[in-house]
Amino acid sequence: MSIQSNIIMIEENMEKALKKSGREGEKVELIAVTKTIDIDRINETIRVGISNIGENKVQELEKKYDLIGDTVNYHMIGHLQTNKVKNIIGKTRLIHSLDRLSLAKELDKRSKNNAIVTDVLIQVNVAEEESKFGLKVEEVLYFIEEILDFKNIKIRGLMTIAPNTTDEILLRKIFRTLYNLKENIKNKNYENLSMDYLSMGMTNDYELAIEEGSNMIRVGSAIFGKRNY
Ligand SMILES: *Cc1c(COP(=O)(O)O)cnc(C)c1O
Repeated sequence: MSIQSNIIMIEENMEKALKKSGREGEKVELIAVTKTIDIDRINETIRVGISNIGENKVQELEKKYDLIGDTVNYHMIGHLQTNKVKNIIGKTRLIHSLDRLSLAKELDKRSKNNAIVTDVLIQVNVAEEESKFGLKVEEVLYFIEEILDFKNIKIRGLMTIAPNTTDEILLRKIFRTLYNLKENIKNKNYENLSMDYLSMGMTNDYELAIEEGSNMIRVGSAIFGKRNY
């Protein structure tokens, strides 16, 4: 299957999931996860209409930014080390992995130095998996209140990585929990914060995630085939 036909198929599935959940006509953004993918294939993806790509390593994001430039929007979707913030500041449309105060401080400081505001999502480890980063659901509100007056970062929503399982009931429960948390935060009407984005859903679960309210999915293997690492 070609990259183009894979994307067409995913977009059809996205439409179906929206329809199924009564959200027909709403917008869901597809982020093509390009980690380990070479420049030629990324350029092909851009040619067939993709305008958002996701990387999980700073070094790889930097390299691709240098070669491709800003004809595409970059999303940092992986764990972000505080000492690497300076390398990607100003290069991202959205950082999906804000999960601790020290990182928020560094992002705010570096953004201020560059006279920009960096848009971020808070990563939530809904399933509380040992192997994954992210705040617990019950920690999120406190964290938000801690960083709400940081002027050079703006919280735009929430992100989660669901467990690698085919248990549909469990997956739905996780997605619904994050959706409800998002609504709960939105209803507090904080200043300097918006809950525009709910980044959830990957190759194996993006349809379920959309049915449960996601509006930003991060898909790699369904576009490029299985990664060999
Ligand atoms: C790799 C990755 C994805 C994409 O995974 P696929 O299963 O290949 O779609 C999505 N989100 C994050 C954070 C990732 O690291």
